[in-house]
Amino acid sequence: MTEHSMSIAPTARVQEYTDRFRRFLDEDVPPLEEELAKHNVGTAGQPKLDSEGRMHPIVWEARREVQRRAGALNLYAPHISAELGGGGFNRVEMHHVEEFVYRHSGLGLGLAALAWTEGPNPASEHMSEAMRERYLTPLIKGQITAAFANTEPNVGTDVLGMETWAKQDGSDWIINGRKAWITNSHFADVYQVVAVTEPGAGTRSLTMFLVDADTPGLECGPDLPTMMDDGLTGELEFRDVRVPAENIVREVGDGFALAMSWINWRRLCRGGMCSGWGQWLITRAISRSQERKSGGRPIGDLQSIQHLIARMALEFYQARSTSLVAQAELDQWGAFEIPLHKEAPRLISLLKIINDEAFYRLADSAIQVHGANGLLRGSPEEKLFRVARNLRIPAGTSEVQLNAIARGLLREAAVS
Ligand SMILES: Cc1cc2nc3c(=O)[nH]c(=O)nc-3n(C[C@H](O)[C@H](O)[C@H](O)COP(=O)(O)OP(=O)(O)OC[C@H]3O[C@@H](n4cnc5c(N)ncnc54)[C@H](O)[C@@H]3O)c2cc1C
Repeated sequence: MTEHSMSIAPTARVQEYTDRFRRFLDEDVPPLEEELAKHNVGTAGQPKLDSEGRMHPIVWEARREVQRRAGALNLYAPHISAELGGGGFNRVEMHHVEEFVYRHSGLGLGLAALAWTEGPNPASEHMSEAMRERYLTPLIKGQITAAFANTEPNVGTDVLGMETWAKQDGSDWIINGRKAWITNSHFADVYQVVAVTEPGAGTRSLTMFLVDADTPGLECGPDLPTMMDDGLTGELEFRDVRVPAENIVREVGDGFALAMSWINWRRLCRGGMCSGWGQWLITRAISRSQERKSGGRPIGDLQSIQHLIARMALEFYQARSTSLVAQAELDQWGAFEIPLHKEAPRLISLLKIINDEAFYRLADSAIQVHGANGLLRGSPEEKLFRVARNLRIPAGTSEVQLNAIARGLLREAAVS
């Protein structure tokens, strides 16, 4: 294992950014939230669905409005390189930003103001200059949205076993296949599609293509309803979808590395997300323990409730510490470099599994403190418990993270 001098403190520019973000959340978002409430279509955190099971279009449009406004104020993409139009923040800075946004927004509409999977991502930074102008800049400004199309009905973890393939035809490529469990599949303007271009070439067998949503032959399939109940995850079908070679990201054969940079980004985002939501749930549990009475006394006087809250604090602290230390170490190497530093996968996986599992236990305790109210459908505790359970599967299951940690340690032991 390596040692570096690392700083995990928030920088002055994080402070400046979160001050601006706070003003945006406090001043710009509430009127949009009030407007949304008039339509009786649910909330951003608990949207109603349309007849096809998708997020209600009015909720989606409210989120889009927040994204466009945040983009115009340069709040939406702090994680993207400054020379490409983003904020240029490193991973430690992003932990602090994400923690702030999730803590301050809870499950509110304001959460949409920070790019999530529909926004620009490390893989999109590798677009050619022409593609950047067409896709990356509008993504950074919140003017369009994207989706990452990697997983398939028959292939999840086993990415290199994917079946969607692309064949060269003159200066174009033709894509055929199906994708599944794609977040934002219903609404995206552009898809980052990973397909086989050289069968049998291992980690060089895949290529990433940018595919416009209105390309002939591309069909948005049905919603795949999950316990998240957000109407955002669905299928895509590609039937002879013709894409010009200029829509290839980086080079033919770089698709696996690009897919991993997208996936690793989502893994690292768990740190700030779990810390922010974790603190929000702890604060809510403390308030509840002071208000709710049993035998004439606040339940917070009971040791059983105190221990539940103390355990929530333990989960939060260990997960947050892991995130900050791991991301500081990754900042020394470049968290999304291609090729990636050989020790990076172990650290990224460690961060993900510790945060996902700690947050799951924390969310479970939050429900226990709230009693039946914590089980109430649509309450923050109930919703975040479902979110927490979900986290252990997307962007690589917990088992796959353990594989990466063990692989890293055993390789290190073999060379020492
Ligand atoms: C809400 C949600 C959003 C998603 N969004 C996207 C998206 O935007 N884009 C996208 O491309 N995908 C997306 N996914 C798909 C997600 O990345 C996959 O679900 C995930 O990679 C796991 O694949 P799987 O579900 O097919 O499970 P499987 O691969 O079928 O795994 C099943 C079980 O076997 C275990 N397993 C499988 N292989 C191994 C192995 N080699 N070693 C150890 N254990 C193993 C797993 O840990 C798991 O327990 C999303 C999924 C969900 C639920």
